[in-house]
Amino acid sequence: MINIENELAGAREVGITGHIRPDGDCIGACMAMYLYLQKAMPQLKVHVFLEDIPTIFYVIKDTDKIEKAEEFLGSIDTFIVLDCAKDRTGACEKLIQNAGKVINIDHHLSNASGSGDINYIVPEASSASELVYDVIDKEKLDTEIAKAIYIGMINDTGVFQYSNTSKKTMEIAGKLITYDFDFPALIQKTFYEKTYVQNQILGRALLESILFMDGHCIVSSVDRKTMEFYDAKPKHLDGIVSQLKNTRGVDCAIFMYEIGTMEYKVSLRSNEKVNVAEVAENFGGGGHARAAGCTVRGTFHDVVNNLSLYIQKQLKL
Ligand code: AMP
Ligand code: MN
Ligand code: MN
Repeated sequence: MINIENELAGAREVGITGHIRPDGDCIGACMAMYLYLQKAMPQLKVHVFLEDIPTIFYVIKDTDKIEKAEEFLGSIDTFIVLDCAKDRTGACEKLIQNAGKVINIDHHLSNASGSGDINYIVPEASSASELVYDVIDKEKLDTEIAKAIYIGMINDTGVFQYSNTSKKTMEIAGKLITYDFDFPALIQKTFYEKTYVQNQILGRALLESILFMDGHCIVSSVDRKTMEFYDAKPKHLDGIVSQLKNTRGVDCAIFMYEIGTMEYKVSLRSNEKVNVAEVAENFGGGGHARAAGCTVRGTFHDVVNNLSLYIQKQLKL
C-alpha cells in the first residue's frame, strides 16, 4: 500500500484526474483526493480535472472547482490518475505526458500492471474511492471527504450489492457513516433517482430489448435520433444496462448507444458465467469481470454478432 503524502513529498503543483465520461466512483475518488490534499498538504497547489459531471454529484464539496484540462495553461509536476489508466483520461493525457511523476490508483482488471511511475492497483477493490481511503491518513478524514468516498463506493457497488463488495468495503463504509452526513438521501439522490426523461429512455430501451442465445443474453440500443428527441446525453443512460441484466435467466446484458455513424459505445454486465472485461478487451475496451465497456464500429447487427462470438464461447453454448 502507498501513502499519498509520502508520494507527494517533492511535489509543488499536483493534478488529479479520472476517466472520460466520469461516473460516481471516478468523481467521488477525485474529489475525495482533492479535498484531502487541500486539507492535509495546504502547501501544494492542487487542480482537479474532469469532463462535465452529472449535476447529481454537485452535492460533493468543491465540485465547482473542477477545471477543464483543455483550458489549462500551466504545468503540473505530479499527476494522480484515479479509476483508470492514463490513456483513458481524454484531454488530460497531454498534461500527464508533461508531468514528471504519475501516480496511478485504480481497481480495473484491465489496468492490472498500472500506467504510472507509482502504481497502487487493486482489482479486488470495490472502487477507486475505497483505494483513496487506503492511501490517506484516517486522522485527517472529515465529513466532506467521507461523503465523497461513500458516494464513490455506493455507485461502483450498486449500493453494496455487487460481488465487488467485500468485508473491507463494508468496514470502511461503516467508518464513513460515523461522519455526519445523510447517507440514505445520498444513496437516493446519486444512485436510484432518475429524471422523468431518463426513465422514459429506460422504458424504451427495455421495451425494444431483444433476448437471444436462448435467453442467456439480452441486448438493447439507443440511436442518435432517439437521444436527440429526448435531448439525452450519454450520462443520462447510466443504469439501463443493469436493468437489462435484471432479466431472469440472463447471464450477459449488452447496452449500446450510437456515438457516431456506425459507431457504438457498448456497456456489458454479466454474472459469474461471463467475464465481460475479456470480451471488451477484444474490442480495445476493458473494465471488470462483471462490468465492462468498449467502443465498436459497425451496424447494430454487426456489433451484436461480433460481441456474441466471444460471449457464446464463454457460455459454452
Ligand atoms: P460502463 O459500461 O461504461 O459503465 O463501464 C463499465 C466498467 O468498465 C466501468 O468500470 C468502466 O470504467 C469500465 N470501462 C468502460 N469502458 C472502458 C474502456 N474502454 N476501457 C477500460 N475500461 C472501461
Ligand atoms: Mn469508473
Ligand atoms: Mn471505479
